[in-house]
Amino acid sequence: MFQALVLRQQDKSTLAAVESLDESQLPDGEVTVKVDYSSINYKDGLAITGKGRIIRNFPMVPGIDFAGTVIESADERYQVGDQVVLTGWGVGENHWGGLAQKARVKADWLVPLQAGLTSEQSMVIGTAGLTAMLCVQALQDAGVSPENGEILVTGASGGVGSVAVVLLNALGYRVVAATGRVEENEPLLKRLGAERVIDRAEFSDDPKPLEKQFWAGAIDTVGSKMLAKVLAQTQYNGAVAACGLAQGFDLPTTVMPFILRNVSLLGVDSVMCPTNKRLQAWQQLAKLLPASYFEQSGQCISLKKVPHCAEAILKGQVTGRTLVKL
Ligand code: NAP
Repeated sequence: MFQALVLRQQDKSTLAAVESLDESQLPDGEVTVKVDYSSINYKDGLAITGKGRIIRNFPMVPGIDFAGTVIESADERYQVGDQVVLTGWGVGENHWGGLAQKARVKADWLVPLQAGLTSEQSMVIGTAGLTAMLCVQALQDAGVSPENGEILVTGASGGVGSVAVVLLNALGYRVVAATGRVEENEPLLKRLGAERVIDRAEFSDDPKPLEKQFWAGAIDTVGSKMLAKVLAQTQYNGAVAACGLAQGFDLPTTVMPFILRNVSLLGVDSVMCPTNKRLQAWQQLAKLLPASYFEQSGQCISLKKVPHCAEAILKGQVTGRTLVKL
């Protein structure tokens, strides 16, 4: 038997409770993993509270990422005792996920734990860190370099935003962190590597098609009016990597930044990201993240505290990363 957070649907509401399950109840897959750590991402918040239409088949074990040790494998790439990491691929959405002491998944969805990282560190990074790394790589591929000017990170106190600040700083970029919690989080954001911290209230009025050019590039985790404003403020030839919708999934912009300033809007998805690109991103994460990042980047909770944390992440009350020890 093992413990898992199980989501069930009752009268169109989602109920989340820790249950004891038998291994025979695990879904099909080639590799069974003893999960050491999972984490709480914004999408987990939407799934666990039922506030986003993430899960369509119940009962479901949520948890879009995990790190653990192989205990059974029918795939020659993985042996018993191997340490592995999983992010994305719809796990925790339409296949039982990582908020459980055991998981059974397709071998193709796993990557080996990156040398130099512990299981715990890999989940401090998690989906959020992988996504932040993919955003940074998108800016680099678009030719945005440190000498071009400042890089803005929106939702900077959140999981993706906070890792993006650290990674950009490690690569020599000058980082400006935009947050709704300046008073509370400015010291942390500066310790993580932000040169300046600004209030997201500065982005709250309706964006003009073009505004004063501030940003050589940006990583946007919030979408909606804030992303529109960032695009209008991006310098000629700049680029904005967009990965999130914490403010909303709409984008009330115009074509002006694209056709008059040669600005690029770069879409970033980590869920279906091909394995080669994932491995490159994990290598970079292991290389770039300093030891201090893992000490100050968040909190670690038990399985039974997850539903409370899921509510908090949707209210924008969580800072950095939340690890779950299984
Ligand atoms: P998170 O930890 O909750 O961070 C989101 C941050 O956005 C919050 O901490 C808050 O930062 C800011 N925020 C919240 N509500 C806001 C609002 N109404 N207006 C403006 N800013 C707001 O979530 P996360 O796990 O980092 O994920 C961030 C976003 O990226 C989510 O939308 C998530 O779905 C998406 N995501 C996408 C991918 C992908 O593959 N594309 C992967 C992972 C995550 P401040 O308090 O600092 O303002």
